[in-house]
Amino acid sequence: MVSASLVSLALIAALAPVLCAPVPATPLAARQGAFLNGERSSKHSLANPLKSAGRPVGKAPLGYFIVTGPSKITSCVKEDYTKLKGIIYNVINTVILQSLKRRSHCGDTFCFGDGVYRTAYPGFLIESMDFQELAAWLGMRSSQANFPCPKCLVPKDSLAKLTRRFEHRNTAAMRDVIEDARRQQTKGDKEDILRSSGLHDVEQILWEFGHSDPYKAVSYDTLHWDDGGKFGRHLWVYIKQVLTDLGKTNEFEQQILVYIQQDLDKNFNFLKQHYTCHASNDIREKGATKHMSTRTGEGFQQEVTRHYNRTNGRDAERQIVVINENEEAMARLDMLVADYEIREKQKLEDSEDHADNTVEPTGSPTAHWRFSAPNSSVNSRRFETEMSRGEGGEAFDGFDIALREFLAIHHPERVIAFEDTVMVQSFRAVHIEFQSMVNWSPQRDILRCNPKFYGQPRYDCVLYNAESDPLSLARLIGLLRCTIPGGAKFDLAFVYRFKNSKWKPQTFWRGCRVVEECRRPEFLPLEHVARGALLAHAWGTKRTNLFFPIDTIDDDMFLRLNKME
Ligand SMILES: [Zn+2]
Repeated sequence: MVSASLVSLALIAALAPVLCAPVPATPLAARQGAFLNGERSSKHSLANPLKSAGRPVGKAPLGYFIVTGPSKITSCVKEDYTKLKGIIYNVINTVILQSLKRRSHCGDTFCFGDGVYRTAYPGFLIESMDFQELAAWLGMRSSQANFPCPKCLVPKDSLAKLTRRFEHRNTAAMRDVIEDARRQQTKGDKEDILRSSGLHDVEQILWEFGHSDPYKAVSYDTLHWDDGGKFGRHLWVYIKQVLTDLGKTNEFEQQILVYIQQDLDKNFNFLKQHYTCHASNDIREKGATKHMSTRTGEGFQQEVTRHYNRTNGRDAERQIVVINENEEAMARLDMLVADYEIREKQKLEDSEDHADNTVEPTGSPTAHWRFSAPNSSVNSRRFETEMSRGEGGEAFDGFDIALREFLAIHHPERVIAFEDTVMVQSFRAVHIEFQSMVNWSPQRDILRCNPKFYGQPRYDCVLYNAESDPLSLARLIGLLRCTIPGGAKFDLAFVYRFKNSKWKPQTFWRGCRVVEECRRPEFLPLEHVARGALLAHAWGTKRTNLFFPIDTIDDDMFLRLNKME
């Protein structure tokens, strides 16, 4: 089984220039724009070192290399295989990165993005890869080794001790370990020494580079160190358990890990957990975690692997490029068609809601409302079934019976038998005309009752004249035209009414009114609707059904709600 792996991709993100500086510079300092030497200084030119070379900014693949090996590996050969992989990695990377080695010591002069020539020293600031690659790249043993951390010498049984600090790896110390091991007479002694630092007998390529510390450059990659299931599969499961068991405790943070480990018998002694303690330093030294994330590269790598598998293996790069080009072109066409369809659908929906599309009222032509954006007409029983299925459908349970009762009470002269069909046409908007209380000029509100108005549900509120209170409020949940046998039509709003609430906010202001939404739907003849209204969720309470009517939406509303007619 052969699989392609694009290992060097991650290294590219790590290329940060070290500029010729009056004082010795480190890659970290250069990244922060601290050391500059040129006629003008610019932080931007530092951030985009590759731009000046006429190449794209950001990540760019330098080369592909193919990792071959058995698809399944037994544990006894795993360590040897990791070692072999490490040697291959380093040999290939030596070729790929050859041209940078001399420059990392002597520097090279080239034109930066701001047009100024400077001498830059390439160095490796960030290395982001998954642990397997990291182990191969650093010549380390597997994650089960005695000292598995790529950054420090934490023993494997102390991985859960997040507050303890351990000796950091560095080039000189690791080189000493390898040299010491090579001096040993027996293989056993040699392996013992290597094991004591979690290393294989592999010379890391960056040891010979200037301004680069391969261990310091290992960075907190959220994809592999964090998101890869540590929280979802380990921490969150146990946090929920602890919260259930402990109830409220002030010592939550200090106790939680101890509790999980002791009482729930969960062992947090794994490398991902330990690596958390390097995270804050990495962020402090190299910036936000998105600079170190392999998320983008990982997606690209999977794509390239898929493309590679479609080639015949010879001159694969050229074939990969052609396949990729074709796929990109097809994806673009696909996207254009999909976008066009979405836009057309949206246009159609919006045009249906448009103001021109109004329907005359049923009664006198001088009536003050006009429905618009009609849906098709169906009989009342089917209407109930259809509406009950949608979001907020519980309001329409028992709709048919309620409608017949309402019509029987309010229009007793029209006898509707149970088997008679009542046709219902619903609308998604209504135009309400009213006279301004301020200057008696005609005004109009367009009110929506639409489960998907520009992609969002919108159910506007109205002010209506009830016998008990001329300033009653209700929320529209349906705008209906009902046609009974004989052809008579009735325009009704199906609403949730608001009743006055006894709850008062802690800061009570003059004229403060609080209303409570009653989730019992009722019919409201359009004749009673005065105009649209705006309500805001009441704050200072956990109840979600309390609202403040807003009297400042316009001068007319101010006069009405404050009874200043
Ligand atoms: Zn560590």
